[in-house]
Amino acid sequence: MKHNKSDKAFAEASEYIPGGVNSPVRALRAVGETPIFIDRAKGVTLTDIDGNQYTDFCLSWGVFIAGHANDSVLQEVSKAVQRGTSYGIPTLLETELAKRVSQLIPGMEQVRFVNSGTEAVMSAIRLARGYTRRNYILKFEGCYHGHADHLLVAAGSGVATQGRSNSAGVPDDFVRYALTAPFNDKEAVKKLFAKYGSDIATVIVEPVPANMGVVPEEDGFLHFLRAITREHGSLLLFDEVITGFRLTLGGAQQYYGIEPDLTTVGKIVGGGFPAAAFGGRREIMQLLAPVGPVYQAGTLSGNPIAMTAGIATLDILSQPDTYEQLNDKAERFISRLQEALEPKGVVVNHVGNMFTPYFTGGNRPRNFQEVRQSNLDEFARFWRYMFNNGVYLSPSQFEADFISIQHTEAELDKVIELAREYRGELVIGN
Ligand SMILES: *Cc1c(COP(=O)(O)O)cnc(C)c1O
Repeated sequence: MKHNKSDKAFAEASEYIPGGVNSPVRALRAVGETPIFIDRAKGVTLTDIDGNQYTDFCLSWGVFIAGHANDSVLQEVSKAVQRGTSYGIPTLLETELAKRVSQLIPGMEQVRFVNSGTEAVMSAIRLARGYTRRNYILKFEGCYHGHADHLLVAAGSGVATQGRSNSAGVPDDFVRYALTAPFNDKEAVKKLFAKYGSDIATVIVEPVPANMGVVPEEDGFLHFLRAITREHGSLLLFDEVITGFRLTLGGAQQYYGIEPDLTTVGKIVGGGFPAAAFGGRREIMQLLAPVGPVYQAGTLSGNPIAMTAGIATLDILSQPDTYEQLNDKAERFISRLQEALEPKGVVVNHVGNMFTPYFTGGNRPRNFQEVRQSNLDEFARFWRYMFNNGVYLSPSQFEADFISIQHTEAELDKVIELAREYRGELVIGN
């Protein structure tokens, strides 16, 4: 595949945009490539400016469960833009989408819309602190909750040690209330509660961690978190920015049968436009301005275009059997992928239709520490092989791949075929 135009575009972009990109993973550094520039996308097919086509499993980081440029979403959005694109004054659309989100996601009795997952999480944490009048938060190594200062806490820092930021520009004081523990580690969580229990405002978790690749919970870890937060009067915050409307219509909380106190959703809920939301029990949400003392606001929050795209997307996803069919298709594909890659020392973790291949020599990672045992060079080689054969996987070991309702069996078969033919170096188990 030739990337001449993309290469030129990247050089020019790098003149005006740091690193040539507006979000770091797009730079493809983790896989030893430079970015392709996209001309258009339809369904699950990306077309770059050189005319190359790729079957997309990144899907704008999980946004396009219903496919790129979905006809019915586009139809509604094109009508909506004619009526104006933002007023800074309420519309019926905001109530309509809030009502649906609230009816679908068990833990979101009331909802407020914002423009990004980062904002949703940042606001939910402020609310949790305002409600509990406590300062500490507990997060898990390898979970990502957006780029707000106080959440950029070094993954991998020791259990029971207070966080240090993993970004320059964040004073240590800003993260001193962030505690971290390994995912799936009940003992570490118990220890932190024993020490800080009455000061922990909230435990924040991706119920299916997807930002260290997919790492499923084990041994009722999420139920354990529900119980221990209740016991100590802390709030449980599910960051469902990826999993909301991904595993089921009711998110991971419905999938696992757990009701958190607060929830964030993003990605899918904006139907491809910048929208995200946080929500929770009415009693907690009533602390938000203008009714309560916790301040939060946004010029473009709940704007009519994103609300329209969100509603149209939920209309598609609400059709009967959507998730049964999607998850069945995904399970069949992922188990075939696992079978094809097993001889190469690859383990494919998955939950429902989210998956990640790990190059760990056959060990199944259960936390960030174990994910980091994966051979990143081997991952990069595999990624480039797929890329050069027209398959766009999420371009880092620490990300998830997604199946859309629009992936056809033929497109999935092609990936299996490629995986079978892959002649990567065997990974030595560690
Ligand atoms: C993507 C993501 C975020 C951040 O959302 P942005 O819209 O990129 O700000 C937060 N939490 C999780 C779990 C995410 O996957």
